[in-house]
This record gives sequence, C-alpha cells and structure tokens, in this order.
Amino acid sequence: MDGKAILWAPWRMQYVTGAKPTGCFLCEKHQDSNDAENYVVSRGVRCYVILNLFPYNPGHVMIVPYEHLPSVGDLDEETLAEMMILVSRCVKLLQKTMSPSGFNVGMNIGRVAGAGVAEHVHAHVVPRWEGDANFMPVVGSTKVLPEELRSTYDRLRKAWSSPDGK
Ligand SMILES: [Zn+2]
Repeated sequence: MDGKAILWAPWRMQYVTGAKPTGCFLCEKHQDSNDAENYVVSRGVRCYVILNLFPYNPGHVMIVPYEHLPSVGDLDEETLAEMMILVSRCVKLLQKTMSPSGFNVGMNIGRVAGAGVAEHVHAHVVPRWEGDANFMPVVGSTKVLPEELRSTYDRLRKAWSSPDGK
C-alpha cells in the first residue's frame, strides 16, 4: 500500500463534472450559518473545519481559512498557526472516533496540483486504513453515502464538543 492511490479517485469525477456553484464554495459555506446542513464541524477565529462532501475516505475533513486567498503563502502567521492547530485537533478527534491506521495531511496549491477550489486555499486531513485502496470503487459514483456523511459529522461534532476533545 503506497500513498499513490490517493492521487486517483474515480468517484471524484462527480465533483469534477458536476455543476459548480457560481461563487466560491468555501466562502459560501463560511458565510452561511447553517453549519449542520453544510457539514461544518467547527469554526475557529480565523479558520473553519468542514467535511469533504466528495471524500477520498470517510472522515475526510478540510481546514479552511475564512479569507479567500489562493495560496498558503498568502496567509498571515496567525491564520497559519490556527490552521495547524486545527489539523492537529482533527487528527486527534478522527483517531478517537474512527480509529484509522494513518493519515494524509496536505494542500493542493493551484489547479494543476489537483486543487478543487484553487482560488481558496485549504488543508486536507484524510484518514487511512490498511488496504483502503483495495475497496475503492472502479466506477464513477460517490463512495460515501449521505447517511455516512451525516453519521461521520455527528460523531465528529460530538467529539469536538466533549471536554477531553481539546
Ligand atoms: Zn473563497
């Protein structure tokens, strides 16, 4: 099992070929207050955490600065610090709630690097399980059903608000 499998995820074709919102998706989710409906797990001072609706694996979350900027190089130090704190917290909570064997953490800067929303930088945290690539579907359909998204969301929300979830 190597990390290459993550570079190719056929179910993401629905995202690639599907209708795009006219504005910036990540700004829209930030500005909309219905966090449960939008799968927004938590809001910090400078960044928020949201489930990826087209995940590479269950529990795939994104840490998104509120500011609409394209690169990690554009962010100020406070925002960078909070992003990394939230990455750490997501890893901890996902470990606790979903018991993965490992994680991929990273950013795709620019469309050529695979950024789905290239104009608005964000960090991905993707839980990994031994052999998870073996179960990747080979036809273009979403891997994770809405019910699974909702269940993951509820578990993360609960863990996030628990006293030892810090
Ligand atoms: Zn944006």
